[in-house]
Amino acid sequence: MRDFAYHQPATVPDAVALLGSVSESRPIAGGMTLLPTLKNRLASPSALIDLAGLPGLQSIEERSFGLAIGALARHADVARSRLVATRIPALARLAGSIGDPAVRHRGTIGGSLANNDPAADYPAAALALGARIVTNRREIPADDFFLGLFETALGPDELITGVVFPAPKRAGYAKLRNPASRYAVVGVFVAETANGIRVAMTGAGNGVVRVPEFEQALATSFAPEAVAHLRLAPDDFASDMHAEAAYRAHLASVMAARAVADALA
Ligand SMILES: Cc1cc2nc3c(=O)[nH]c(=O)nc-3n(C[C@H](O)[C@H](O)[C@H](O)COP(=O)(O)OP(=O)(O)OC[C@H]3O[C@@H](n4cnc5c(N)ncnc54)[C@H](O)[C@@H]3O)c2cc1C
Repeated sequence: MRDFAYHQPATVPDAVALLGSVSESRPIAGGMTLLPTLKNRLASPSALIDLAGLPGLQSIEERSFGLAIGALARHADVARSRLVATRIPALARLAGSIGDPAVRHRGTIGGSLANNDPAADYPAAALALGARIVTNRREIPADDFFLGLFETALGPDELITGVVFPAPKRAGYAKLRNPASRYAVVGVFVAETANGIRVAMTGAGNGVVRVPEFEQALATSFAPEAVAHLRLAPDDFASDMHAEAAYRAHLASVMAARAVADALA
């Protein structure tokens, strides 16, 4: 691991100023992804800007439309939050399914969204629920935020400060967990929202995507049977050491049906 400087800013503007002025600097939140990346020499920033001490970014608050969750809220906080369990229970269940206890007590929702791992869970929830990613500059609709493999709409010195989630009428999530990491081999989040049915899939390929085939089927009948036998084209799925594309395509329908059952439970 290359030597790096370490900064602990006290405010969001200070953190943003450091990111803008220290070349090759990177923000670090829970470090669950970034630290292994540094250890494996897949990144070598000159400085880490530690967000952990920034005030006010760990909150989980109720809004008339749903929830506002601070970027530094840890997965364990979301999983055990009464507010989340009441307003968007599928989101609490999703957070509780991430990794292991150590990952859930360090990893943050902002870090997960900024990282946009193609098998991560939160991006599926954000996209299906029509969340908005709040940064120090603007609010970015989830539809415009996820740009593919580890790519997002964030600018170089832009920080996620929170996420706002409209509460759905009902929602559910299901994933086949990689038995080692618990990342999704395929995960499907289904939501009946004020703007209709939205379905987002993670783990399938280069990043989270909506699935119009499932959305149309569920708009006609919000039942597991509506999607259980709907086959997506394997060409749209990735093959790797964890699963072949044809298996992932099969899993998509199975997980979609389970997610609907979860929403109806
Ligand atoms: C063993 C293991 C198992 C895991 N299993 C799962 C799983 O099942 N499902 C799942 O979804 N994830 C899983 N993860 C990932 C975990 O959920 C982390 O939360 C996530 O990868 C990153 O969050 P973090 O807070 O640790 O971010 P960090 O590692 O600190 O940062 C990740 C990236 O985001 C950037 N960043 C961090 N915060 C911000 C911010 N506020 N604004 C802008 N950029 C920011 C950093 O610069 C870095 O590029 C796993 C990780 C490990 C190590």
